[in-house]
Amino acid sequence: MSFQVFGIPVSRGVAIGRAVLVASSRVDVAHYFVPTAEVESEFDRLLKARDAVTHELQVLKADLPPDAPHELDALLDVHLLLLNDEALVDAARLWIEERHYNAEWALSAQLEVLARQFDEMEDDYLRERKADLEQVVERVLSALAHAQDKGAPGAAAVVARDFAGEDPLLLVAADIAPADMIQFKRSVFQGFITDIGGKTSHTAIVARSMDIPAVVGTREASRLIRQDDWVIIDGDAGTVIVNPSPIVLEEYRFRQRQAELERARLARLRHTPAITLDGQRIELHANIELPGDTGPALDAGATGVGLFRSEFLFMNRNGELPSEDEQFEAYRAAVEAMRGMPVTIRTVDVGADKPLDRMSVNELRHEHVLNPSMGLRAIRWSLAEPSMFRQQLRAIYRASAFGHVKLLLPMVAHLSEIRQVQDAIRRVKQQLDDAGQAYGLVELGVMVEVPAAALMLPLLLRHVDFISIGTNDLIQYTLAIDRADEAVAHLYDPWHPAVLHLLASSISQARAAGKGVSVCGEMAGDALFTDLLLGMGLNCFSMHPSQIPSVKQRVLRADTQRLAAAIPRILESEEPGRTALEALASQRLH
Ligand code: PEP
Ligand code: MG
Repeated sequence: MSFQVFGIPVSRGVAIGRAVLVASSRVDVAHYFVPTAEVESEFDRLLKARDAVTHELQVLKADLPPDAPHELDALLDVHLLLLNDEALVDAARLWIEERHYNAEWALSAQLEVLARQFDEMEDDYLRERKADLEQVVERVLSALAHAQDKGAPGAAAVVARDFAGEDPLLLVAADIAPADMIQFKRSVFQGFITDIGGKTSHTAIVARSMDIPAVVGTREASRLIRQDDWVIIDGDAGTVIVNPSPIVLEEYRFRQRQAELERARLARLRHTPAITLDGQRIELHANIELPGDTGPALDAGATGVGLFRSEFLFMNRNGELPSEDEQFEAYRAAVEAMRGMPVTIRTVDVGADKPLDRMSVNELRHEHVLNPSMGLRAIRWSLAEPSMFRQQLRAIYRASAFGHVKLLLPMVAHLSEIRQVQDAIRRVKQQLDDAGQAYGLVELGVMVEVPAAALMLPLLLRHVDFISIGTNDLIQYTLAIDRADEAVAHLYDPWHPAVLHLLASSISQARAAGKGVSVCGEMAGDALFTDLLLGMGLNCFSMHPSQIPSVKQRVLRADTQRLAAAIPRILESEEPGRTALEALASQRLH
């Protein structure tokens, strides 16, 4: 039966494929395809793991002390029964044979199928056996991991498809932690659907950076969609169509082809400099998460990196932090790849919706911190961990010997934070001098993403070389809207007059002070806002590489003088969104 699920559109385009349901807790299970020749041995691996666990449970059972409660013995029997039921491992064989999933993925896929059947059971006792099944699967997964060479790819390794004929796959999950999302960068998945999240949640940001369609905040997609269902993701409308009719499918395939043609057309702008009709040169920089993202940035024609979210180097490390040398290598790789163009490295911005470990926003929200967005995050965390912070600063300064590095501090709200960082920088430079290590000139900038920073900007500007406006957080904190919470997503409004005033004043104050200013939040990469920001005097935009072509197209058709003339009317309007669209459209050359 065909049906639709509605959510929040966060990454454009159409994706058509089969659903892969992944429980949030199992997103880190390895997902890769096995070649035809290895299908048999892959199933064998699964059988061996099952046999190992059977043996483990039998030993546990035999070793039960005589006074152990009888329930324990009975529970082990249940686990043995579940483990050896043909609905589990034998049925998982199909996923390996037909879909070429690796053993871990096949087992998790089969668990999702069975878990659903348990959920639908009338009988309470039977329904509760789902937890037992999950425990059994957990044991088999660890037996598989144990049997695997320790040097095998990381837990969440996702290897590109290596055989032909497979249907495209779309990931469906209740929630995906940013740390897991980053693992999907070069993944097999061609679209994402989650129950949780808002437009600027990090799941959404990473999906956009991968340039693949995504719909979040669907609330119940992961409950309604079944493993292997055919699904269409409409990333423009925020709609998910499950088991579409042939006519609907054809319509979407047509739209997919149109989008590809449009993309190819825009890609031709790659080498065209971003100069407006009135001769203003506009810098279009890239936001990156890992040094490897500089490749797509250069391919898209970026003229620098406006935001290197260094926190992604700190994730997925089981509590260990990256060493100074490891960080240095990562920063140097990015700096060298950009060949003299600026690379703006933001010091680690963990906390809020970007926890260090594999915790989803929801887990973090409910189990750990009262309000992570207002807690010990970003620069606050760095200043609370001085030796970690100095290590990062040393790595960044060392990388500055290889190109043009700018240092950016997240979530600054107090002058004292800048002063403390400057002290730390003095110390770090001294240490590098003492060690005879080279470093270059590094400009210091702050993110303007807390209203306090925007409101006291003239003071901050005396102490920094540039600012970068993080509209994602600036909107969140100005409007008191949790950016990851789909329940208030409809109130997250970039057109809100308070947001527009803070944006306009920050840009004009920075320019008047002769300091650099860029916008690196999601607004910068959304062509809907390009004219507005150009009119406000912005000449540096930083965004996902995939967004550069469409923003560049807008820039090429803009006259900043004419757009500027429309800004006062927009700022005075009671409905700035509507006024802006009318006022700016009338100034634009089509
Ligand atoms: C922002 O807040 O706009 C920003 C760019 O930072 P992040 O999205 O990483 O919080
Ligand atoms: Mg931010």
